[in-house]
Amino acid sequence: MVYLIHFNEPFYHARHYLGYTTNARTLPKRLAYHRSGQGAKILKALNGQGIGYEIVKTWKGDRNLERKLKNRKKSSSFCPICQNERNRKPAKTNGKHSTT
Ligand SMILES: [Zn+2]
Repeated sequence: MVYLIHFNEPFYHARHYLGYTTNARTLPKRLAYHRSGQGAKILKALNGQGIGYEIVKTWKGDRNLERKLKNRKKSSSFCPICQNERNRKPAKTNGKHSTT
């Protein structure tokens, strides 16, 4: 099971974290585990900054899928929260929108 975590605020250039767990049922525990400052360094850093985050999407898959998704480097394109934000404010911000 691969999961996508969305940060409530951007952290440097990052706004997402892709992780992997063997069992979907452990996901809530996984989040608690991250919140307690264990596991991924970036999430630990978020805890330190007081930035909230949550699991917004999951996929059935293994480490190969995790790697594949990471390689795409466009986590926001499969994040429901980011897509909502994009839909809500149409291209009228500061003329700087990247579409690749
Ligand atoms: Zn997002």
